[in-house]
Amino acid sequence: TLHLDQGEKVHGRSLVIATGARYRKPDLPELGEYEGRGVYYSASYMEAQFCHKEEVVVVGGGNSAGQAAVFLAAHTRHVHILVRSEGLAASMSHYLIQRIEATPNITLHTRSRVVELCGEDKLEFIRCRMDGSGEVVEKPIRHVFLFLGADPCTSWLNDCVALDDRQFVLTGWQIPPGRWPLERRPHPLETSRPGVFAVGDVRSGSVKRVAAAVGEGSAAIQSLHVVLAGVPDA
Ligand SMILES: Cc1cc2nc3c(=O)[nH]c(=O)nc-3n(C[C@H](O)[C@H](O)[C@H](O)COP(=O)(O)OP(=O)(O)OC[C@H]3O[C@@H](n4cnc5c(N)ncnc54)[C@H](O)[C@@H]3O)c2cc1C
Repeated sequence: TLHLDQGEKVHGRSLVIATGARYRKPDLPELGEYEGRGVYYSASYMEAQFCHKEEVVVVGGGNSAGQAAVFLAAHTRHVHILVRSEGLAASMSHYLIQRIEATPNITLHTRSRVVELCGEDKLEFIRCRMDGSGEVVEKPIRHVFLFLGADPCTSWLNDCVALDDRQFVLTGWQIPPGRWPLERRPHPLETSRPGVFAVGDVRSGSVKRVAAAVGEGSAAIQSLHVVLAGVPDA
């Protein structure tokens, strides 16, 4: 039974959880104006084409920021990583830190932050505080990549299904021992509660892209029909 916020109850034999995640964003009032026009939340081949041979900024000190920086370094003139902390050791895997240190066109700026995004129709320059200095400096940066993490929308699940340590939903082989109650194995997108599936950003370890979420959605529906048909072993 699902309880809706208007007090209604919905009964069903199966459920697909697709409530996504909220991407953390810096506190910059003008941010929305530049999303897709110089501010990006992922670094794929497509974004790399936009900033070919330019100087770019990556904001964030986690593994996704590190992977993006290393990838972008191969396509851009220079990558500046801005983190508010004293360093990367507490937030990024050692192998990525080593790769960053070994890449000549990546510079890490600790105790640094973007304070303003500027430009007419698209991002043309940024204002930032760099390397622990209180002074605001202007930089001709037209591409900023934000990797500040995401919080899954799972609080409503009230521990009904197993979650990882960051509260993303575990599915298939990720389900911890003892949490799966049936003899049959769980389907790849099935949660620890039989017949309940999770797809897209809310799922632990998922690729945070539209195409991935859509593909997982269709795969989950196929499995859901197998479960509802009562096929004994999937
Ligand atoms: C700014 C930005 C730019 C992006 N750019 C790209 C891009 O260029 N290309 C790309 O492939 N991906 C991009 N992404 C990632 C992409 O948006 C996600 O991977 C994709 O939307 C995930 O789909 P989803 O269905 O899992 O979740 P979502 O699209 O987040 O949908 C979840 C839905 O569930 C709703 N919801 C949450 N909680 C509840 C609840 N308790 N009850 C009812 N409804 C609820 C939410 O309101 C939302 O409508 C971007 C993301 C952001 C934030």
